[in-house]
Amino acid sequence: MRFNAPLEGGGAEEKRPTARVLSPEHGGATSGYSGDNMIEGTLIIGAGAIGLSLGWRLLQRGEPVTILERGEAARQASWAATGLLSSVPEFGQQADTGYLLGRESLALYPEFASELEQASGVALDFRQDGALALAVSEEELHELRHYQEYLAGQNLPVAWLAREQVREREPAVVGSVWGALHRHRDCQIDARRLGAALKAVFLKSGGILQERCEVTEIRLAERGPPTVLAGGREWSARRLVLAAGSWSGLIPALADALGPLVRPVKGQVLALTMPRADFVRCPMRTPHIHITPKDDSRLFIGATVEEAGFNTDIVAGAVAELIRNAVRAVPGVAAMAIREMWCGFRPRSRDGVPIAGELEMPGLYLATGNFRHGILHTPAMARLMCELILDGRKPELLHLLAPARFFS
Ligand SMILES: Cc1cc2nc3c(=O)[nH]c(=O)nc-3n(C[C@H](O)[C@H](O)[C@H](O)COP(=O)(O)OP(=O)(O)OC[C@H]3O[C@@H](n4cnc5c(N)ncnc54)[C@H](O)[C@@H]3O)c2cc1C
Repeated sequence: MRFNAPLEGGGAEEKRPTARVLSPEHGGATSGYSGDNMIEGTLIIGAGAIGLSLGWRLLQRGEPVTILERGEAARQASWAATGLLSSVPEFGQQADTGYLLGRESLALYPEFASELEQASGVALDFRQDGALALAVSEEELHELRHYQEYLAGQNLPVAWLAREQVREREPAVVGSVWGALHRHRDCQIDARRLGAALKAVFLKSGGILQERCEVTEIRLAERGPPTVLAGGREWSARRLVLAAGSWSGLIPALADALGPLVRPVKGQVLALTMPRADFVRCPMRTPHIHITPKDDSRLFIGATVEEAGFNTDIVAGAVAELIRNAVRAVPGVAAMAIREMWCGFRPRSRDGVPIAGELEMPGLYLATGNFRHGILHTPAMARLMCELILDGRKPELLHLLAPARFFS
């Protein structure tokens, strides 16, 4: 597939639609549209962090936006995420294109989070105090040393902390810890609050959000924009963005045309209650597990990485394994009450790298495949996609993320 030049004329519109959430059964779906099926501006499928943040950025530029959401906004992967914002590739992962996107996005995060907090009134628990990669056995110590060498080779130096230094920083960590790397640039955020804040600012900025409105078909046209079937009616817009997370490759007939775009990778997570909010002070990882403290005393233990389709079971064995690995690092976990358990589906593209860009069909864009780092990627995805859609701007990074790589 080739790229198309983006459509012209996406600049500021004088008049913005009024903020509202509509359900088809409420009969409000047609207000604000011109023609039978044609709606103004951009139509986005999927109200996760990716769709909502892009919608917000487009609205800020004066572009009217409607989002069609199958369930409730920000209740799928973007709700399930533990909210770690990694500054370096994880154990066993490469500094690939996804990492470059993450690095660009992390640089945007402080300003993005502060703007979003102010605009929404939602405190995001955004923290910039780094994370620890721990070794709690001799074998893990060797792995950690290899990891440190790999990062140094990539010009990503991280500080080595000896056992006593780890204990000083994190008294809750097991006494036999062998050492740790301090990833001082890592950040974290409360992903659920991020989703709530994005929904709030999207609506405040004049966006139209159609919840409980599943897109059941995307019909491609030889000429002109595709037609979307959802909520018992047809929708068309000059620009259509598919941001449906793990479900992005399932909607007929577009799915038939594009082949498998993404697949779900299941993650099970536990939330425990800490005796005090600073019992664990900063996020910690071992090669097997992430432990993430939140400001309301929740301690997230996660997450499994499973090829299990859309299976939503919380499985006893997975829970036991999460707890076992957490106790190896933080023995106090054994006495903590279980507050919540959930799972979610990370959208993984065929090559594991996010997909952001336009297709050959006029006005059809993809913004998905953010896999394990979609919360991290949110600010950069929104900026890149907004500038592509409205200005036709295509920096090098967007060339690397373009869907064309699957169709050449
Ligand atoms: C357990 C777990 C832990 C994670 N931890 C982290 C982390 O620490 N840091 C990090 O950066 N990332 C993390 N992630 C990854 C991150 O959550 C995802 O990459 C990101 O949320 C993807 O956002 P999205 O908007 O593409 O997808 P989603 O949030 O899944 O949103 C897609 C939306 O599209 C809607 N939709 C689907 N089909 C249709 C349709 N046909 N019509 C209308 N709407 C439709 C869905 O209902 C959904 O609301 C984690 C994910 C999981 C599951």
